[in-house]
Formats: sequence, structure tokens, C-alpha cells
Amino acid sequence: MAQQEASAGDTPSFSWSKDNLPKQLFINNEFTEAKNTKKLEVYNPKDGSLLANDVALAGEHDVDAAVAAAEAAFPAWKKTLATTRRDLLLKLADLIDEHGVRLAELTRLSLGAPFASFGSFEIKGTAEAFRYFAGWCDKFAGESYPQDDGFMKIVRNEPLGVTAGIIPWNGPMATAALKSAPALATGNCFILKPSEKTPFGALALGSLIKEAGFPPGVFQILSGDGSTGALLASHMKIRKISFTGSTATGRKIQELAAKSNLKRITLELGGKSPAVVFDDANLENAIFWCVNAICGNTGQICFAASRVYVQEGIYDKFLEGYKKAMEERAKTVGDPDAAETLMGPIVDKLQFDRVSGFLERGRDQGTLLTGGYRIGEQGFFVQPTVFTDVPEDAEICKREIFGPVAILNKFKTEEEIIAKANDTNYGLMAGVFTQDINRAMRLSSEIDSGMVGINCVSLAFLVTPFGGTKESGTGRENAIHVLRMFTEPKTIMINLTY
Ligand code: NAD
Repeated sequence: MAQQEASAGDTPSFSWSKDNLPKQLFINNEFTEAKNTKKLEVYNPKDGSLLANDVALAGEHDVDAAVAAAEAAFPAWKKTLATTRRDLLLKLADLIDEHGVRLAELTRLSLGAPFASFGSFEIKGTAEAFRYFAGWCDKFAGESYPQDDGFMKIVRNEPLGVTAGIIPWNGPMATAALKSAPALATGNCFILKPSEKTPFGALALGSLIKEAGFPPGVFQILSGDGSTGALLASHMKIRKISFTGSTATGRKIQELAAKSNLKRITLELGGKSPAVVFDDANLENAIFWCVNAICGNTGQICFAASRVYVQEGIYDKFLEGYKKAMEERAKTVGDPDAAETLMGPIVDKLQFDRVSGFLERGRDQGTLLTGGYRIGEQGFFVQPTVFTDVPEDAEICKREIFGPVAILNKFKTEEEIIAKANDTNYGLMAGVFTQDINRAMRLSSEIDSGMVGINCVSLAFLVTPFGGTKESGTGRENAIHVLRMFTEPKTIMINLTY
């Protein structure tokens, strides 16, 4: 009933809350009952309780309906004035700010991210992403080349058409913005497929999209699971998938894209990022960043520095300070709805069981320095954990855990640590802590990853490219780089010789 009330009228007011969850698809600017009768179940990780068992799971007909609406909207949207697109994105950013507390709550319900830490940070970042890409709408210029040979050459950046974003649960609002904003700014229509674990914040955006004034079919939202994602990835009329999620799913998407219409893909995948602390590093600063890196969003961050390597001269001091700081952070774990909580639970039972498995097996693979166990009996809380002296080939050193679990190992030489840092299939992020600028620059070049922090780690900016090497993905988000991922450069040659 509440769903119907929200969809009635031209401008739905933002009435979504924990007592009125958005559960329908957002197609052609209307909240719509899915044709597919299968539904999603969504749980609260703080106590394992069921939040809803009737959230729409978009099936084939629903995906087709959204694609058809997007195709119908594309010709006019492509020709819409850049400044009009800018204003729509800016308006959406303002509405996200206005309803930020509610959007964060809708996300928190099933992600468990406290407002005081990740919740408010994510909402601010989401609005900022829409503003940043709004600014690009009338500035993403093409190129032109001289007519010295009798031909004037022009390169235009043209939108692809119907594009889609498939996103994970760990930053559902921010990843939605980082994909949709550049797609829309460059004149594409966009279909968002949020994770089955965290659909509410994304679905609620539907009301704001309509209120901002986006034309029907331009920006749509299909809740669903992997089957919905697969339908999008294999759809013959979708021209691009921007995906963020696990490496395993990324492989499947690449395959589906290749087997269907060779649609463009961007893959932002997992990581096992190293932080390297040299003897001359500022100890306090290195500890601060290394703790934040693995505790932020309960360690559920793709670019978390989960392998910490410390040079032998400073190792004992670092170990002592790092242990203390992790134990201080452990005191902030609790009910994500409580104002003082900084660390919430793991997102759901599946992920909790996965992390618990690593904790259990990790005790045989290394020495437990701190943490290592579940907190309480209810919900999916785990202690911030550090294992030391872990063999380089151990599972906890090689595989992405995606929880607040770090390994801490000692090293002697620069040569040795470059080899260790690069001995991974991933290449998303790295951190180098040292006062020696020459060494920092050497390592930033030698480490094979998309991003390297010097005296910082596990952070990102809208103005610089974001993404990984090797199995951490392909393509880049943010900055001008993502605009290129959502456009086709078209060359026009004008013959001036006749
Ligand atoms: P996931 O791969 O399980 O799911 C991600 C999304 O893909 C979900 O929306 C899911 O429904 C969909 N999906 C699942 N199977 C699919 C299929 N066969 N075809 C199409 N879509 C499918 O990942 P997750 O568990 O939601 O997220 C955690 C992972 O995401 C971690 O590995 C993490 O490192 C990664 N991640 C990466 C970044 C980055 O920018 N590099 C950012 C955040 C998270």
C-alpha cells in the first residue's frame, strides 16, 4: 500500500524509511511491480532478522522493459543541452544531501554501516560525485587536428546508448553514483542493478531521480540478484556494463559480454593491497593509516590495505602501536544504529561465515596478535584482527578476506619488499611509508597497482583515476578517464581539397 502511495502523482515525495521500504523496480520514472514473481529476501546484519522477503527481483521481462524505456529515451537525452544535464545532476546531488540521513539509514539497515563513520561519509561522497560529474557535462571536449594535409580531423565523444551498472553491497550509494553520474553526464541512459544484499538506498533514489526532473527512461533501477546481473551483461541492446564486485563475477561478466554483443565493460574488482612501512617512517602516521585501512566499513573495502609489511628496525614498535590501536578500534564495534558506534557488523551470514572461516584457518597459518573471534552471540560482529609471521603462500596472505583482518609481516630490504608486494594476482592499491622521497618514488613505480599512496593508503579521489591492474580489474573510474569509458570517440574527416 505504502508503495502505491509513493508512486502516485507526478512528484513522489520522499517517504522511504525503515517502516516504508522501497521494494519495487523503478522503470520509466515509476515504481513498478516486477513481472517476475521471484522475490529477494533482505536481512539486518546486526541481529540477523528478516527486513523484507518481498523485494522485487527483476527477471527477463523486467530487464527488457527497462531497456526498451531507455532506448526510447536515448535519442532525446543524447541531444539534451549539456547545461540541462548538468542542472539535473546538481539537483539530484542537492536532493541526496537533503535526504541523506534517510538514505544512509536505508543502507545501514542491511549493510550495518554506522552513520558516524561510513554512513555519513558515503552519502557526502555520493552527492559530491553527482556534483563533480555535473561539472564535466559541458567540458568534455573532443579534439581537432590541423588541415595541413588537406583534411580537417575532428574527434567527437559520443554516448554509447543504453548502459548499465552492476554494483556490490559494500558501498551501495557511492558505487551507484560513481557509475551513473559519468554515464548520464556524457548523454547515456543508465540502468542501475544494486546488490541483492543492499537494495533499499538505491531503490529510494528513484523518487529523487523523478523529483530532480530526469526524463522517464533515462535513469532506472532494477533490484535483483546475480541472475538479473547476468541478464544485463548478456543483453543485446545494452552497450556497456560498468561492474564493481568480486573477481569471480567480473570474469563471468566479461564472458557474457563477449558472448552477446561485445558490449564495453569496466571491471572494478577485488584486492589484497600491501602497505609497506620503512624504518624511517613516521610511526604514528603509518599506524593511523594502516588501522583505518582495514577497519573502515568493517574491512569491507576493495582497496583495504590487508597486508602490512614493516621493516625490521621499526617492526617491534609498530607491532606494539598497531596492536594497541586495533584494540582501541575494537571498542567501537557495536550496534550500527547507536550514535557512538564506528564499526558495525559484517554484511550478512554468508559473508560472516566466510570471514569466520578465514579467522579459524588463519590461526594455523600465522600467529594471532589480536582479535580473531566473533563478538557476541547475536548478529555478525567480528573483532578487528591481525595475524603476524604469516608465510607468503598462506591462504590468508593470498586471498581477499573482505573483513577487518590484516596480516603483519617483517621485511629487511627494499628489493625483498617490492617482490613480496607484487606477489599477488591483484593490483588495486598500495601504500609506502617512508621519509625518503627517492625511495617512495622508486616504490611507487615498481609496485604493480592502479594506485599507490605515499605516507597514506586506501583512499581515492574523484579527480584521479580509480581502478586496478591484473585481476583487480580493467578500465578506470573517476576523473576524465571514466568519461572515456562511457563514450565512443568518433572521427570525422573533412576533405578541404576539392
Ligand atoms: P559479487 O561479485 O558477489 O556481486 C556484485 C554484483 O554482481 C551484485 O550486484 C550481484 O548481484 C552481481 N552478480 C552476481 N553474479 C552475477 C553474474 N553472474 N552476472 C552478473 N552480475 C552478477 O561481489 P560482492 O560480494 O557484492 O562485493 C564484494 C566484492 O566486490 C569484493 O571482492 C570487493 O573487493 C569488490 N569490490 C571492488 C571494488 C572496486 O572498486 N575495485 C569496490 C567495492 C567492492
